[in-house]
Amino acid sequence: MQAKTTLRPPVKNFVNGIFKDSAIETLPVTSPIDGSQLSSVPLSPVSDLNDAVEAARTAFPSWSATPIKERVLVFYAYRQLLLQKMHELTQLITSENGKTYTEAKAEIEKAVELTEFACSLPQITGGEVLEVSKGVECKTVHVPLGVVASIVPFNFPSMVPHWTIPNALVLGNTMILKPSEQVPLSAMRIAELLKEAGLPDGVFNVVNGDKKIVEAICDHPDIEAVTFVGSTKVAKLVYQRATGNLKRCLALGGAKNHLFLLPDAEPEMAASNIVASATGCAGQRCMAASTLIAIGEADHIIDRISEEAKKSVCGENLGAIISKSAKERIEKYITEAEKEGAVILVDGRNTVVKDKEDGYYIGPTIIDQVTPEMAVAREEIFGPVLSIIRVPGVGEAIKIENANPYGNAAGIFTQSGSTAKYIAEQVSAGMVGINIGVPVPREPFSFGGWNESKFGALDITGKSSIEFWTKLKKITTKWNAEAGVNWMS
Ligand code: NAD
Repeated sequence: MQAKTTLRPPVKNFVNGIFKDSAIETLPVTSPIDGSQLSSVPLSPVSDLNDAVEAARTAFPSWSATPIKERVLVFYAYRQLLLQKMHELTQLITSENGKTYTEAKAEIEKAVELTEFACSLPQITGGEVLEVSKGVECKTVHVPLGVVASIVPFNFPSMVPHWTIPNALVLGNTMILKPSEQVPLSAMRIAELLKEAGLPDGVFNVVNGDKKIVEAICDHPDIEAVTFVGSTKVAKLVYQRATGNLKRCLALGGAKNHLFLLPDAEPEMAASNIVASATGCAGQRCMAASTLIAIGEADHIIDRISEEAKKSVCGENLGAIISKSAKERIEKYITEAEKEGAVILVDGRNTVVKDKEDGYYIGPTIIDQVTPEMAVAREEIFGPVLSIIRVPGVGEAIKIENANPYGNAAGIFTQSGSTAKYIAEQVSAGMVGINIGVPVPREPFSFGGWNESKFGALDITGKSSIEFWTKLKKITTKWNAEAGVNWMS
């Protein structure tokens, strides 16, 4: 069930440990659940970003010089606060994003897991040391970068910020977070709770805004590294602009995830996993199944998928779409596919939820007889819509998946180990699930796609993020006079 929405105070920036309000322009923050205005968000002037960067730059020497075992203590305390405030934080996500309570709670649980991983960094971040020649030792040290920035999307108001905040800060950086202007409320609570956990002022700052602030982040000479999570169009712009300004950048983009359905798949398990993957978070997940490639005779499972999809009820176990314009965009995709000859097995258009008539809802939608040329097969829809393409064999299915420009995730449903292994090797995606619809790698494994789903080296979470958030110093030492002089001396 979704929480009732209530009006909240205006969103403010968080700079040097203080909530600050200097914006002249604001945007309304609208609840997708009932279309009511929840709050307002500042479109910050660039001077607010400059103040935040200055605060982060000032905090950096002391924070980075604090031993990692002390820095991590803040995150032990923060983890406790996340657990204590679970219900309140969950409700906040639900009201600003429109996902269900269960889905929102899973975000906070994931934030806890991400924080726990960051708490393990002192045990796994230590550099290496080796006696490279007699009496000469070489060691490596992970050194924080300085002020870094994290730009995040609307679909996970808490989890995606936690992909970057705990790791970057435990590793000694100071940060500017730029929340999505559609869901800026959770970021304020993250800032408050980090302060309550003991994070020194200036180490974590939040600057709200839109394109103008994102561009200013990419241009700011004192920001060393930028992570971005959002659509491919903007990921490319951010990657090009930030790296053009010689910053380190990792930009995660959109997705079009394909599932392979083999006729030998276990029908009940496959149907429930496929539907959950396509409709969870109302399909607004970069890991959502979008295209199902049914290989051979799969009607017995497709029938079950339709039955399973009909069990999702908007406003109960299926959340809202983020905005009116997003709802219209998704419904247009469905209508276009229908006009082009696809068959709508389950139709989620024109869904109205009782007492939430002004909310933005689309019911689960299953479209059969889709061809690879149709827009629903090629483009990211980002709604609870599953398109089914039927092919005779595995070869054709792999060709379709490989031809799509994205590469976040792919999934395979079969009881044949060898078929699953073969397809997993052939797909062009960074994260692959076998009999799993949403193959998010859990910590300590790292999260990241391929192709147009990610620009830049490394992944954003897990062990891979250590390399992103630090630079390696190599120190060669000779204390032993007996080592004499060699060609390197
Ligand atoms: P978005 O690209 O519209 O916005 C993301 C961020 O960029 C926001 O903070 C926004 O303010 C800013 N922004 C928007 N337009 C901009 C512009 N022209 N110039 C500079 N900055 C701009 O994405 P969204 O709609 O918030 O999120 C949905 C998208 O994010 C989907 O495409 C989804 O697949 C993707 N996503 C990807 C991942 C991943 O891990 N690959 C994870 C979550 C979401």
